[in-house]
Amino acid sequence: MAATVTQKVDDQVYKLPLKVLVIKEKKQVLFAEAGKDFVDILFSFLTFPLGTLSKLMAVESNLQKPVRFGSISSLYESVTHLEEEHFRTQTCKEMLLNPKNSLASYCQNMKLNIDDATEPIKYFICENWECSKRWRFLSINFRNQRCFCRELLNREIFRENVTVEDGFVKVTARFIVGDDLHITPDVFGASLQVLQKLGIKDMQGIEERTIHINKKEVVNLLKFSLFSETPMTDFVFKKDQPLDNFSPQLGFDIAQVPSDKGKQMLVKILVRKSNGKIVFAEAFEDFADFIFSFLTFPLGGVLHMLKGFSSLSCLDKLYKSISNLNAGRYLRSQELTDKLVNPRCAFQFNVSNQILPIEADRLPSYYCHVKDQYSGTLVTSPPATFGNGMDLPLSIVDPRFPAGDLSSTYGFVKRSSIYMVTDDLVVTPMSSVSAISYLNRLGVPLFDLEERVIAIGLR
Ligand SMILES: [Zn+2]
Repeated sequence: MAATVTQKVDDQVYKLPLKVLVIKEKKQVLFAEAGKDFVDILFSFLTFPLGTLSKLMAVESNLQKPVRFGSISSLYESVTHLEEEHFRTQTCKEMLLNPKNSLASYCQNMKLNIDDATEPIKYFICENWECSKRWRFLSINFRNQRCFCRELLNREIFRENVTVEDGFVKVTARFIVGDDLHITPDVFGASLQVLQKLGIKDMQGIEERTIHINKKEVVNLLKFSLFSETPMTDFVFKKDQPLDNFSPQLGFDIAQVPSDKGKQMLVKILVRKSNGKIVFAEAFEDFADFIFSFLTFPLGGVLHMLKGFSSLSCLDKLYKSISNLNAGRYLRSQELTDKLVNPRCAFQFNVSNQILPIEADRLPSYYCHVKDQYSGTLVTSPPATFGNGMDLPLSIVDPRFPAGDLSSTYGFVKRSSIYMVTDDLVVTPMSSVSAISYLNRLGVPLFDLEERVIAIGLR
């Protein structure tokens, strides 16, 4: 196999220089002048699944208070606390807690990459080579999957001609990054416009500064981009705490989803009669799978669904900057731009009852190119030798199916379970005792409660 050697920096010690224009007195960043390395980092935030964002929010940083990503953090914690017996396989929990990034190959070689789930895809076949040639099962990303022969699919097989992607924007492109993460090409008119918009009349008190960013600081920048209206200022002047009681929320209205009479998901909801508010929902595993799938949605995919209008104003600006940039000139290709403005969930992260317009990535067909009696490589198109016994088509194993499970629905939790889902997305297995304690904690009188059944439509 011809391995592609790339120069990878040690991101634990590497520091990325960034030039910023500041008003020292006011401790305010006017804008940053950035090249590919910094802008690739900002764009990579949009590729992160929501589960990754809530995981990174909990990572230790120099912010004094721990920060939470609204109810997405509650959802993430629900998965953490849910015992393994509730998941269809052991891998399911791992998939939700460390969701894969469908644009991982573009993030891998960035100078500072904070998403650990972007390591190159690994491929595994049966430990028994003879069996591999016979049953031809392939596991992608996950070890320890069972083969048909009961052995494990743990023999790594390497793919031929892997292309190593180099981030999102062109190497020589230069950008102006506003305090609010609005990105424009670095032309003088753009910087002048920023200064005029901020009401800057002369250059007095304005100075240029170069800061050096390490990996941990990129996590801080991500936090500020979710929490603050002025993330660059807070980042550069090392603000050490987020806004008080501010927890960013990312809302999408399930009621707005187009419904199809043929398919429905029934959810029992407990409503307060006095104010019409939902106290909690009681639902089957399909609804739990649907809710858990939020953790696997890339942020950019959610912003696409919301047409760039979420409550995360700086990320909205960052997101809209992509569409305003001339893709051919500043981004590496139009195709990549399209992927970045509507990133999909990673491969095998789809659920059967997905009612939101978000899809999972599709991978090509894989073939084992048999080299000799004991080894082979992975190829994605059947080469000329196909059919002469040298290139065997492989069947991809879904890590969410326990061996022998022939069901046809995709999801993460076991069938025939009932879950309680609170309004702020705490998901637990249904238990009347804990439901009553929950009502007690909320102080909701029983006479004020009413049960309703609602149907959520599928596309
Ligand atoms: Zn086998």
